[in-house]
Amino acid sequence: MKNFVKALVFIGVGIAPVLSIVLSVWARELPESIVRIMVLDKVSSLEVGSGGQFEIFDLNTGRKKTIEHLETCSVSVSSEGMTIGAEDWSGMARLIPLGDALLSLNGKKYRDTLLFKKVGDNQITVINELGIDHYLYGILPKEVDADWPMESLKSQAVVSRTFALKNLKRHEQDGFHFCSKVHCQVYGGVNGEEENTNRAVDETHNQVITYHGDLINAVFFANCGGKTEEPANSWLTSGSPPYLRSVRCKVCKGDPFSAWRKKLTQKQIAEALRKNGRIISLPIRTISILSYGRSGRAKFLSIQHAEGQLKVMASHFRMWMGPETVRSTYLQSLRKVQGEFLFAGRGWGHGIGLCQDGARGLAQKGKKYKKIAQYYYPGTQVEEWEY
Ligand SMILES: [Zn+2]
Ligand SMILES: [Zn+2]
Repeated sequence: MKNFVKALVFIGVGIAPVLSIVLSVWARELPESIVRIMVLDKVSSLEVGSGGQFEIFDLNTGRKKTIEHLETCSVSVSSEGMTIGAEDWSGMARLIPLGDALLSLNGKKYRDTLLFKKVGDNQITVINELGIDHYLYGILPKEVDADWPMESLKSQAVVSRTFALKNLKRHEQDGFHFCSKVHCQVYGGVNGEEENTNRAVDETHNQVITYHGDLINAVFFANCGGKTEEPANSWLTSGSPPYLRSVRCKVCKGDPFSAWRKKLTQKQIAEALRKNGRIISLPIRTISILSYGRSGRAKFLSIQHAEGQLKVMASHFRMWMGPETVRSTYLQSLRKVQGEFLFAGRGWGHGIGLCQDGARGLAQKGKKYKKIAQYYYPGTQVEEWEY
């Protein structure tokens, strides 16, 4: 942690007071083990606090100030930049906690540093800059239940670390690595942390999943219902890497999430299709499965309606209807009952990569986390990664 703070202070020193130069130098010299998470997006004011000593560093002017303790104070936009408490700063300031202090933002605690950036005339975006394991502390409890067996928590830790490192560029244009929402991985800061998931992160420090020396695309989902799927059969991708192939999974079948049923009215279906640019005319006569993926998941659906036929990818149909509504494309039956469509299926999620309920089941049977990862990503290795 000391090195981390040193690196941050060093990066700012001697940088010319021109925002674009600061940004480019910052981006270039940022140690790769530090990730930047956007935690507040374009707000007009916010509250910041700290349980102990911290430093404010102005990236445009180079001015530094150490503050001993701060209950909370408000941060708002000023014509020159921003006001933190009663003091004016430029439009770019980093708050660096010293010692064991943690900064808080609107009452939520965050590890490591916070970067305040003025955006446009009257808004502020806040980016939490932190070590990757500290980031994983904040996301793991959102992905798994901390009461699960330790080996399954460790398999999720290497999966989430690999996923993060592989996707560092997804917000490249925005000036940070990840948002804190479902789009990336949900990140809740310190408040959501759990002892067991933190331990799983610590015990797998630096470990990632690779295929022939490269980071894999470590996709995962809740429950496969018996068999995982290949990406080409579910998403419109250019191909399926060899480690994302369909595997049998016997251990998640008895789980409450392994089977589901849902009724949708014709109006609901037509409305959801319309919102996604697909116009059909009621009544819907039939919905049938045109083709299947390797696991038995529906690949294409045909919707026969009053004025013709619409062919859609089942995975798109699922997202349009709502991934919580049509939980998977692993449909066991699709029937019209009294004018409504009854969907019954297995599993929850897209079905590609690691099945989380399966990982838990394998851990309960005594499998170690590396073997669990290798089971769902065949042909891969779990190894130390230099970053
Ligand atoms: Zn995102
Ligand atoms: Zn499974």
